Amino acid sequence: MLQNLSRIIAQDKNFLNIINGRRVGAVTGKTIAVACPSDGSDFATIPACDATDVDRAVSAARLAFEEGAWSHMPAFERGRLLTRLGQLVEEHGDELAALEARDTGKPIRQGKADVAATIRYYEFYGGAADKIHGDTIPFLDGYTALTLREPHGVVAGITPWNYPMQIMARVVGAALAMGNTLVIKPAEDASLSTIRIGELAIEAGFPDGVLNIITGFGGEAGAALSAHPGVDYVTFTGSPVTGTAIQQAAATNNRGVTMELGGKSPQIVFADADIGKALPVLVNAIIQNGGQTCSAGSRILIEHSIYNEVAGELAARFNNLVAGPHDADLDLGPMINAAQKRRVENYITAAAEAGIEVVARGSIHVDAPLSGFYVAPVLFGAVDPAAVLAQEEVFGPVLSLFSFNDEEEAIRLANSTEYGLVAGVWTSDGARQHRVAKRVRAGQVYVNSYGAGGGVELPFGGFKRSGHGREKGFEALYDMSATKTIVFRHD
Ligand code: NAD
Repeated sequence: MLQNLSRIIAQDKNFLNIINGRRVGAVTGKTIAVACPSDGSDFATIPACDATDVDRAVSAARLAFEEGAWSHMPAFERGRLLTRLGQLVEEHGDELAALEARDTGKPIRQGKADVAATIRYYEFYGGAADKIHGDTIPFLDGYTALTLREPHGVVAGITPWNYPMQIMARVVGAALAMGNTLVIKPAEDASLSTIRIGELAIEAGFPDGVLNIITGFGGEAGAALSAHPGVDYVTFTGSPVTGTAIQQAAATNNRGVTMELGGKSPQIVFADADIGKALPVLVNAIIQNGGQTCSAGSRILIEHSIYNEVAGELAARFNNLVAGPHDADLDLGPMINAAQKRRVENYITAAAEAGIEVVARGSIHVDAPLSGFYVAPVLFGAVDPAAVLAQEEVFGPVLSLFSFNDEEEAIRLANSTEYGLVAGVWTSDGARQHRVAKRVRAGQVYVNSYGAGGGVELPFGGFKRSGHGREKGFEALYDMSATKTIVFRHD
């Protein structure tokens, strides 16, 4: 019997945007229906904003930046407000976890994990706000040169649907800590937690216009925001194709960008690895959030001598995986929407038709609503590294196994896609850990672990098609600010 936690949300409602500290709808009054992926039913609406709404939000952010106290106030005071927002997120943790789970379909425990990570973002950036400083630089005799880190001005944040609350927190934490003002456009498929946290920011006492939230379709609100001349910097998390469009739009104004894009992340398992430790991590890395994770470990490269053993163990686990509604808290939830379900199913069908071996397949819970967007997890074996399945990001619960004969081949396979976001290396050989970690082209490399619970402290971002710039950690604070050099002559 599937438990129903959806009632935790006090009431279904029409969510509004936040512009200049006020809750407002789109100027046209248009809305977008919000569906729960667990059963496909609509339960809320969000404003469908266009260029006019974007202009209002950017103007509010501009006014707050140019004329408000925000960018001039002591950094520790900005930090205090971020810390206070983290406290409010904690106080509303159950509500936010349930809201995120219902909006995205993710199991409720993942919603809770997202809340915990979100709190850490606000704590970290609240504490870091006053710890960024410039340098003094030895220069010509009779001169003193120093650098300051200054805010860009108005930052636009365009975020995806897979971890909306967490990704919002990365953007808000780093951008506001440095004294920027913000306009955030969350994904049309999952905007609710962003709006709710925007409401909490008003309660926390953020000045009007510092944090503005507008919802709408990517091609309309997102495109208008990324091309707006009043935006000084754009940070984007989402697909590489959209990332290209946003960079082109930002380039019309010659603005800087941070791009967190997709991945096709490998985990390399050598014969001397602790397999017992690796197995649950290998499965979780692709099943978490239904595989709709940029850092999903979607390729496992296994040393030939242990291939059959590891494939067999993974198959046993995959056969037991069950997808179901968010409130049932099973191994995984549904895909975000019908289009994503079709997309993932098409990859599975095409791979099977191309003759790639289906080693194991999980199931969909018998009580899961037929109107939900479920995909049973699939494990493919002996995948050809040149296959579409080996190269393209599926963004679903689909894992591919490959075999290699030696370290050189493992590194070549790991680096054989256009992506370079995350990698895992499993071996007990210390020298090999260092060698392989250095040669894999990925922004984050985990040795004998994978993901390690996220970690706001750790810089995150991609090589190659996975993007550029870094979020999280102190690195994000550098991306969210510009260096000003000041030279004093005193001879
Ligand atoms: P998406 O690119 O379709 O959408 C992301 C955001 O961009 C949404 O807010 C959307 O409305 C907006 N958008 C769409 N078209 C736009 C346009 N023309 N101009 C401006 N904005 C536009 O991505 P998605 O489907 O929401 O997310 C899935 C993708 O995101 C995957 O490829 C995944 O790997 C990637 N992702 C990456 C990271 C990371 O940190 N690297 C994190 C999460 C997701």
